[in-house]
Amino acid sequence: MEATTRTHGEVRPRKDVQAKNIPDRDVLVLIERLRVAPIVGRVIRLDELEARLAFPPKVVLAKLRALIKRGLLYGCACGCAGGFRLTAAGEAALV
Ligand SMILES: [Zn+2]
Repeated sequence: MEATTRTHGEVRPRKDVQAKNIPDRDVLVLIERLRVAPIVGRVIRLDELEARLAFPPKVVLAKLRALIKRGLLYGCACGCAGGFRLTAAGEAALV
């Protein structure tokens, strides 16, 4: 019998793709890094984050919503441009 990494062609449900699987820090660091380029102090658009986080847009949106709810981010996670930036608590979480 041939060794294989496939399990009978079974497709496992992607239960790992959830907002909670995106580390807070990854998102906060990304927003902070984007904030200073190309214009210092700008707010960050949703599409910029979606393009850089390796998660489906729906999951990214849920993550942003959770961070706003927890007071780590300013912005709107309804699916519009967003306008994200860190709150003082969000900045403190990076230290
Ligand atoms: Zn909105």
